[in-house]
Amino acid sequence: MEQILLVRYGEIHLKGLNRPFFERKLIEGINNALRGFGATVRREQGRIYVHGVSEDRIEDACDALTRVFGVHSISPAVAVEKDWDAIVDAAARLTEQAAGGQAKTFKVYARRSDKRFPMNSEAISRELGHALLQRFANLKVDVHAPEIKVCVEIREQAFIYADEIMGAGGMPTGTAGRAALLISGGIDSPVAGYLMAKRGLVLSAVHFYSYPYTSARARDKVVTLTRLVSRYAGPIRLHLVPFTEIQLAIYEKCPPKETTVLMRRLMMRIAEQIAQKDGALALITGEALGQVASQTLESLCVTDDAVNMPVFRPLIGFDKEEIVSIAKRIGTFETSILPYEDCCTVFVPQHPVTKPEVEKLRESEAMVDFTPMVEAALVRTELLLVDGV
Ligand code: ATP
Ligand code: MG
Repeated sequence: MEQILLVRYGEIHLKGLNRPFFERKLIEGINNALRGFGATVRREQGRIYVHGVSEDRIEDACDALTRVFGVHSISPAVAVEKDWDAIVDAAARLTEQAAGGQAKTFKVYARRSDKRFPMNSEAISRELGHALLQRFANLKVDVHAPEIKVCVEIREQAFIYADEIMGAGGMPTGTAGRAALLISGGIDSPVAGYLMAKRGLVLSAVHFYSYPYTSARARDKVVTLTRLVSRYAGPIRLHLVPFTEIQLAIYEKCPPKETTVLMRRLMMRIAEQIAQKDGALALITGEALGQVASQTLESLCVTDDAVNMPVFRPLIGFDKEEIVSIAKRIGTFETSILPYEDCCTVFVPQHPVTKPEVEKLRESEAMVDFTPMVEAALVRTELLLVDGV
């Protein structure tokens, strides 16, 4: 008898000839999440098996696996020989644990993938049900809403388990290339990064800070948020860009109502250059249509005009409430709402344009020679490798 973790994966099945690549990346993601657990990860017939995790750490390992993209679900299971008595014993032990001496209802779910096993699925369910009823006097069968599910799968071995814990879904990290996330200290951008990483992207992250207008605490907060996202997305290259000089130049020399959009354009310009150096092919932001003046359709067009790369905005059609609920689920919300100053909020104009025009904004931007400032900011950019596993 061995305690293992059974890992199911979903959408990868659709990938035809690329399937081995997706499976390899999924296993890489699992190995990364289980670093330090002493686990051995093995794939067989469309399933992944995790061996070697000590019993007292099974729950933690299971929790770590719920953050691996590409995992559909996980079941802590017992593996035994395909021997009837061994199967009944393991099922009885599991039932006993789940019932804890209480009167409970149960149902057996059997699946025979190994057709050489002498009993078919129906017979296994029936016979195992009988055997359990004989052993436990206060147990009853309920086929509609059982309190205890006893699942049996007959494959290379027999696997017996009670729970199926939902995984994060999505595509394995590293199957979709790299993109650069513009991360602020707010609620939206970490969620945007999470959602794009969920589709298989590896992330670089770019944060702009305006010391001394923004504090070291605000910067630490962004590092923490990046770490929280990296629990799912894997290691993230976080670039910290000093933005004060550019921001002051915009503030002092450009039309006040255009400062926010101009600032957004310069952030995009710098982020694009960093992305290119990191081998990223797209930018990601946490913008949602209409959320603030800089996120009207016109403003987004003006922002996009500053760069050539595609800009992914996975939250574009989301309400704040929906974003908050994801942030809570992935564990970034509590950090995001800590009080802080962001460089966007420090220099925010009283009456920002809501319908900026591309030509007009290009002209305003040309009033200042930003190129040397952009270059200086890039030179002084710090790189942190953030790994939250
Ligand atoms: P968030 O909650 O992510 O801060 P927001 O609703 O506050 O978003 P804005 O401040 O307008 O919206 O920012 C829009 C997007 O621009 C953010 O989601 C993020 O992608 C990017 N951004 C804003 N500030 C910064 C910053 N200091 N560094 C890097 N990216 C930023
Ligand atoms: Mg913000």
